[in-house]
Amino acid sequence: MIIFKKVDDIKNYISEVHKSSTNIGFVPTMGALHIGHISLINKAKKENDIVVCSIFLNPTQFNDKNDFEKYPISTPADIDLLIKANCDILFLPSVEEIYPDGEAGIKSYDFGYLDTILEGAGRPGHFKGVGQVVGRLLDIVQPDSLYLGQKDYQQCMVIKQLLVLLKINNIKVHICTTYREDDGLAMSSRNRRLTESQRSVAGVIYQCLVSIKTKQNTDSFATVKMQCEELLTEKGLLPEYIQLADAETLRILNDFEPATNMIVFIAAKIGAIRLIDNMLL
Ligand code: AMP
Repeated sequence: MIIFKKVDDIKNYISEVHKSSTNIGFVPTMGALHIGHISLINKAKKENDIVVCSIFLNPTQFNDKNDFEKYPISTPADIDLLIKANCDILFLPSVEEIYPDGEAGIKSYDFGYLDTILEGAGRPGHFKGVGQVVGRLLDIVQPDSLYLGQKDYQQCMVIKQLLVLLKINNIKVHICTTYREDDGLAMSSRNRRLTESQRSVAGVIYQCLVSIKTKQNTDSFATVKMQCEELLTEKGLLPEYIQLADAETLRILNDFEPATNMIVFIAAKIGAIRLIDNMLL
């Protein structure tokens, strides 16, 4: 695996690669890699000639300073995992490489409605930051395919919208299945911060998603939502939202609509750690 830290170096390499008809698959990450991330690398490996992974803890997408400061970093272990997965290129830039002109040079995108709901409502500025970094990374890596996790479904929608805003129509977006622990907890870098007792109850988020899916034809959403809020609270979690939406548009639904492709989202805090998950119904 070749590791690039400088924008100019990876750009030169990629422009050489693009001279032959080589397909590039790209997996952007913030590091602290787990099997979920590696599943994206594996899928990208199967479908492309070259796979680029980036590890960049993007400061502009953290609305919570504490979350940023406590975000786990494990670069040597990440590099080992990527080598084992036969990743071809790792892009490991510094903040200065990504934002050479500081705040002043950072582009801003308007995601409209998508930025007003769910994570957008609870984390002001978060998607703006996601747009900034992904726009910059796509310009550097020039991939043919982009691999994203369904775990961050709203982020996938925002990135698709970013491609529309940037008039990029030659990058294929692949939304990949969420990898889970045995108790259903979605794998996440933030899980590393859970204490043993917090970890032992965290699977309840998945149980709630499953119960909502199971009861969609028999109960009202209001009823199952209340049951889930109670269950989460009983286990010591603080539910932030449990919301049902149209999976295509993210229009928020008050009740199940059998004719609509639906998705349910949960955000909940365990102590200081905020976890999100979702399930297509
Ligand atoms: P992150 O490092 O959290 O920014 O994640 C990098 C990419 O990995 C994003 O596209 C995530 O949606 C995806 N991802 C994170 N967790 C998982 C998971 N459990 N299963 C599959 N993909 C994931």
